[in-house]
Amino acid sequence: MRILVVEDEKRISDFVERGLTGAGYQVDVAENGKTAIEKMHSVDYDLLILDLMLPDMDGLEVLEKSRNRKVSPPVLILSARGDVDDRVKGLELGADDYLVKPFAFVELLARVRALLRRGQPLAEKLVIGDLTLDALRRKVSRAGDPIELAPKEFAILEFLMRNRGKPLSRTMIVEHVWDMEYDGLTNIVDVYIRHLRSKIDDKYPEKLIQTVRGIGYMLDSGESRQGEAAGGDA
Ligand code: CA
Repeated sequence: MRILVVEDEKRISDFVERGLTGAGYQVDVAENGKTAIEKMHSVDYDLLILDLMLPDMDGLEVLEKSRNRKVSPPVLILSARGDVDDRVKGLELGADDYLVKPFAFVELLARVRALLRRGQPLAEKLVIGDLTLDALRRKVSRAGDPIELAPKEFAILEFLMRNRGKPLSRTMIVEHVWDMEYDGLTNIVDVYIRHLRSKIDDKYPEKLIQTVRGIGYMLDSGESRQGEAAGGDA
């Protein structure tokens, strides 16, 4: 799945690119309308994420051009808070969905998945050891026991599972799950990890969530960690 992100504000395009890449998508970024149109001519994208305020043209023009192509990908518009007229215009011009800045990455990811799902169904079941997460039905179970998670706990667990075996920093987790402009303490991640552990790890002999000292957290199962010293996290 290849996604074109058309956004001139580097902070936002970096945030979106990092998140979508982490979720397993291929991502290209265009920082103005001209580059976006050129890229659409050379690559068939599965989705367009489009900012409306571009330095060289109105994002709506890019939308119109994308609609003139033989195969036109779904379009998700990003725009600043409160531009109701733009929202209406965008949807009239055939945008498929609309997200107001600032947004949490999980919110964007949910929209992206929904739009891509119209094209083709994704395998959305993640399994690590005896832990299973069904991203479509939003269900989690361990060793066959259903586990109830709050939305943010679910989002953190899904992020850890999609990045199996990779240490994720608290900042990465905060950026992924909370608002992109969230500037509270990253300690909140520790609180949520504690909740998650009490639900998915405490009762079971194998602990899947590991503390990576000096970095953050990682989720993995022993089947891929043979030979490493057991235990060690507190
Ligand atoms: Ca902009």
